[in-house]
Amino acid sequence: MEAREVLVSHNLKSTTCRNEVLNLLLNSSQALAQSEIEKQVDHSHDRVTVYRTLKTFLDKGLVHKVLDDEGGTKYALCNECAEDHHNHEHVHFKCENCGQTLCLDKIAIPAIELPQGYNISEKNLLIQGTCKDCS
Ligand SMILES: [Zn+2]
Ligand SMILES: [Zn+2]
Ligand SMILES: [Zn+2]
Repeated sequence: MEAREVLVSHNLKSTTCRNEVLNLLLNSSQALAQSEIEKQVDHSHDRVTVYRTLKTFLDKGLVHKVLDDEGGTKYALCNECAEDHHNHEHVHFKCENCGQTLCLDKIAIPAIELPQGYNISEKNLLIQGTCKDCS
């Protein structure tokens, strides 16, 4: 799908920054950090604009956060999410060799029982190892 169609289907106005950021994510097989996105979009978009764009995408269910091992956050496209219904509790994989972080969409995070009084709002599971390109 083209970036513009994706924006329209999520009730988002198409702006150049949104189009560029979305295109990057659509064409990337791996999750991207904000700093990587900033480097690849037109430099007339400042950091705040890129940050706001990602925030909007998060709110609208277009992207989800991927926690990286170094404490950073990366972003990846959602497959079947909507504004009020996120469904992306899959495993993420970080390759120790090439450094890419991938969504393993088909691998769900196992159910976890917490002690009484604890409520889950978000689950993140990062597996580290060697990806299929590197092994
Ligand atoms: Zn999602
Ligand atoms: Zn790799
Ligand atoms: Zn993911």
